Amino acid sequence: MNYTLSQLAKITDAEIVGNPDKKITHIFYDSRTIVNPENGVFIAIQGIHDGHIYMEEAYQKSIRIFICTHIPILHKDCSYLVVKNPLKTLQKWAAYHISQFNFPSIGITGSNGKTIIKEWLYQCLWEQFNIVRSPKSYNSQIGLPLSLLQTENDNNLGIFEVGISKPGEMEIQEQIFHPQIGVLTNVLSAHSEYFTNKTELINEKIKLFIHSHIVIYNNDNKEVEKIIRENYKHKKLISFGYQNADIQLIRINTSLIEPQIEISILGEKITFTIPFTDEASIQNILCITAVLHSLEFSPQFMQEKFLQLQTVSMRLELIKGNHNCILINDTFNSDFTSLEIALNFLFQQNKPNKILILSDILQSQTPEKELYHKIAKRVNTFQINSVFLVGECLNKYRNLFQGSIYCFLSTNELINHLDNYIMKDAAILLKGARKFELEKVAAHLEVQSHDTIMEINLHSLMTNINYFQSLVKPETKIIAMVKASSYGIGSFEVAEVLQYYHIDYLAVAIADEGALLRKKGIYLPIMVMNPEISSYDTVIDYQLEPEIYSFRVLEKFISKLKEKSISGKYPIHIKIDTGMHRLGFNFEQMTQLGLFLKDNPFVEVKSIFSHFVASDDLSEEEFTRKQAEELKKCYESLIAEISYTPFLHICNTTGIINYPEYQFDAVRIGIGMYGYVDSTKAMKNLENVVTLKTVISNLHYLKKGETVGYGRRFKAKKDCIIATLPIGYADGIRRLVGNEVGYVLVNGQKAPIIGSICMDMMMINVTDISCKEGDSVIILGESPSLREYANWCQTIPYEILTSISPRVKRVYYRE
Ligand SMILES: *Cc1c(COP(=O)(O)O)cnc(C)c1O
Repeated sequence: MNYTLSQLAKITDAEIVGNPDKKITHIFYDSRTIVNPENGVFIAIQGIHDGHIYMEEAYQKSIRIFICTHIPILHKDCSYLVVKNPLKTLQKWAAYHISQFNFPSIGITGSNGKTIIKEWLYQCLWEQFNIVRSPKSYNSQIGLPLSLLQTENDNNLGIFEVGISKPGEMEIQEQIFHPQIGVLTNVLSAHSEYFTNKTELINEKIKLFIHSHIVIYNNDNKEVEKIIRENYKHKKLISFGYQNADIQLIRINTSLIEPQIEISILGEKITFTIPFTDEASIQNILCITAVLHSLEFSPQFMQEKFLQLQTVSMRLELIKGNHNCILINDTFNSDFTSLEIALNFLFQQNKPNKILILSDILQSQTPEKELYHKIAKRVNTFQINSVFLVGECLNKYRNLFQGSIYCFLSTNELINHLDNYIMKDAAILLKGARKFELEKVAAHLEVQSHDTIMEINLHSLMTNINYFQSLVKPETKIIAMVKASSYGIGSFEVAEVLQYYHIDYLAVAIADEGALLRKKGIYLPIMVMNPEISSYDTVIDYQLEPEIYSFRVLEKFISKLKEKSISGKYPIHIKIDTGMHRLGFNFEQMTQLGLFLKDNPFVEVKSIFSHFVASDDLSEEEFTRKQAEELKKCYESLIAEISYTPFLHICNTTGIINYPEYQFDAVRIGIGMYGYVDSTKAMKNLENVVTLKTVISNLHYLKKGETVGYGRRFKAKKDCIIATLPIGYADGIRRLVGNEVGYVLVNGQKAPIIGSICMDMMMINVTDISCKEGDSVIILGESPSLREYANWCQTIPYEILTSISPRVKRVYYRE
């Protein structure tokens, strides 16, 4: 992509302020992800956050071209395209760009499977075409235009995902991009809160195909079939599925070492050997068979490609490394686009050093020399401290790379020399083709290999926050409770994502937790809910904002400020006791407090708040409402004296759900963002965040009458098979779940926990479950859920999360 500002102004019919000859080669719409600002444009999109607020940050990061509706601060060295609607401008631009090319394109829509189908088509076709495709799952109103704008002159096939979330959006997407081959993976009603029924959703999705020549769809859903046939009878239609389809599954044979499926392609029966046999993969294979058939590829070609299909990783995995490093494991695919995404992700990590470990790129049609020039050029634009190159091609082109470069012919050679390099305080990206097995390098760099891990899905955590955000007014502040190491899941990593997404406030319990976050680079305001008087030095040194709950601590805090000669008004938060009777001021003290704080030169009240006692218990509604009214009364009395207006808040997670009318100026979300809320209805909207996993370390074949574990508490009533798991009460597994109270999940099936839980191990009954040593076991997650598990332990989900021992390794990932 290469446009001048004046070209762009012409295409989008907009006005330029500044130099019209400025060149644009890439686009940013998120100020946090700006790297390589030269010739980059920042588009101030008005989403949940208004992009105009971040123009200054983008300017600080050296962006000099902007697309915006107005110019908040005019910089003489910048050029601006002033438009009515920046998002529409982006879409118009993309529509113009793609209309300049004349090659076949495939548009994929549907409720799920879009990314896998797109990636699998890429895996099948990269040798035949020079493909441009959506990076990751860029399929939204912003993602689709950005994907289309990546198209270059040498591309000769486009594969793009198209997603929608609201009525009317597909029409907009179709105006930008009209695929010749349209693919509808499936239509589920799961995420369709904006659509009244499934028919409406189907009708919306198929609008993508208005100009398509060929439409490929799953006909297992008869309504989809009917609507497509009614609307598109003059197009070439190809159905796939289990019954009466053009591309139809006949049978699966999984008893062979290499599983096979028989597919009828327009009546011709063909047997394929395939690498995956789960339900979703079979559906996806039927779908890509239909697409390959429409492109006139032969069954022989399909067979050859199917054998090479690889799993598509939807996520970049973050792992804790030694010496304060974090590892980004992206060893699932290797091509230029995914390298670019991974590099951007590397630079979003808050670590002073950046290291890249890169293998030869295998999936590319670009001629070798050109490819490695392009890669080196891109890598060089990032300021990477050390680059480790693995593979023969990269060795050949090593001179193209600048900076500290280390070369190895193979992954093993790198591993053998790893100890010679110091990797400290670094974010390390491992990016390579599967064949190179760079994950072996990860295993060497990662902290303690323990088979028991707690997986934390940071993407789901943000999805949950967005859900709560959608329940309150856009201007209501979000305070994220990250106390007790984010309820036990690891404070810094969680705080970092929250900061990345511009959450307004963090709250911790004690000063040391806040200090730790500051040391790790968290600059968001941090409230300390329960600072001990002895920790006021830490509070002040790390710019933490204390909760003040009595005259005694207020005076102590002020004398500390005086002692440290802190000038300016220090932010504090006033806690009101409205019924918990733990900490806080009461109404009678308000006038005195107000007089004391009025014109006080040392402190400024940032917020006034209280805490609900029983917001989860609707039988206590009257009491809860009294608490909120009491807080309002205190607030009014206090501001009458101090004559400025701090922000006001009382709602915790269940408060937001049950009493949104008390959202005031801010809400405090704790357990909800970690994936649990005490409300069946709200639970449906939350995603699971935490999964506690381990593996089977040993299988035992027991004869009838034999026993298991301490105290012989399990006696085999018949011959049975039991498995030992390397996790016990020292990891935080409560003994209460033993003796068949609880279960774990092995290959999707429930295995009862038997005998007593030991310190480092526990045993489960797997007699009726097909499994082997090394298989993964889920202790806690989607199922058994936090709620179920807490019930077994006769406690609440909060206590379960916070009592999983720190020795269990935390692994974070984002999609
Ligand atoms: C922990 C805490 C919260 C969060 O409560 P959840 O029920 O987890 O949402 C809110 N406010 C205060 C004062 C807290 O201590």
